[in-house]
Amino acid sequence: MSVAKMHIRKGDKIQVLSGKDKGKKGKVLSTVPRKKKVLVEGVNIIKKHAKPTQKIPQGGIREMEAPIDASNVMLICPSCQQPTRIFRQSLADGKRVRGCKKCGELIDK
Ligand SMILES: [Zn+2]
Repeated sequence: MSVAKMHIRKGDKIQVLSGKDKGKKGKVLSTVPRKKKVLVEGVNIIKKHAKPTQKIPQGGIREMEAPIDASNVMLICPSCQQPTRIFRQSLADGKRVRGCKKCGELIDK
């Protein structure tokens, strides 16, 4: 399986399809193609206990995003602003780009 098969890329805007953050929208901070997971800004926030440091001797709780399954998110088309499935197309120079199935616009320029 090629890692290029992920339909979501870093920087995409997505909508969450299921789970506790269903309906939430956010920007993809990073992808983990090996695990088919994505890290999305403001989605799947977990609380992590931070070890005490010299600055914060009592320790603390840090909130951070945890990755979610890529199959749980849908790309929001930058052209029509709709959550959409994608199609793939090869350009003349061989570059593979994604397109929006709703409006037909190419997502990767
Ligand atoms: Zn579109």
